[in-house]
Amino acid sequence: MRLDKMLSNMGFGTRKEIKKFSKMGIICVDGKTVKDTSQHINPEKQQIEFDGERVEYREHVYLIMNKPQGVISATEDLVEKTVVDLLEYDYRHFHVFPVGRLDKDTEGLLLLTNDGKLAHELLSPRKQVAKTYYAEIEGFVTEEDARRFEQGVTLDDGYETLPAQLNIKESGPRSKIELTIYEGKFHQVKRMFQAVGKQVVFLKRIQMGPLELDPALTLGEYRELSEQELLLLK
Ligand code: URA
Repeated sequence: MRLDKMLSNMGFGTRKEIKKFSKMGIICVDGKTVKDTSQHINPEKQQIEFDGERVEYREHVYLIMNKPQGVISATEDLVEKTVVDLLEYDYRHFHVFPVGRLDKDTEGLLLLTNDGKLAHELLSPRKQVAKTYYAEIEGFVTEEDARRFEQGVTLDDGYETLPAQLNIKESGPRSKIELTIYEGKFHQVKRMFQAVGKQVVFLKRIQMGPLELDPALTLGEYRELSEQELLLLK
């Protein structure tokens, strides 16, 4: 692989910028300053340094985040704080983006990656990837609601939802439930409850496909997926 391509893939700059950096003498291969950034290198065998820091080449990055409320699921925004703003600079190099969206006031599991193929697979309506939410609902939630969700409900725009599983944890003035859906329409969980005359007052995603929210992640924290988690996803 060309050295300039590798570095620019990793977000160190455009090829032109990489060339300028090499002229400044801050790019080294196997301990030697390089001037020719079009040279081919083997990132697995050779040691690349940028401004004195070792560069570990990898094409894709996979992060699992416990999204807090108050940030939007986007890469950048002029007004709102985004989930990407929560990442350390090192990860921003990789141009990761959130896989799907959680509302600004929704918490929980959010995957961020720069692997477009995997994101596409997880979001494709054909794949019907399961997403499980924990929610708190104003008022009593009943087995009748569960039956209606299992049959599919009609949303405010006339869309008929796919069968979904409602697990009532606690029914009361503020009910606690888990809901598994296999699609991802805009505000889907909130609108499904609206369809049965109820309001979601707290929403958190706890599972997406085989991936579960890591209880060790506090709100706003993230980590790389383990190899095992990645194998489950792919
Ligand atoms: N359903 C919603 O209503 N909001 C979300 O953020 C995710 C699913």
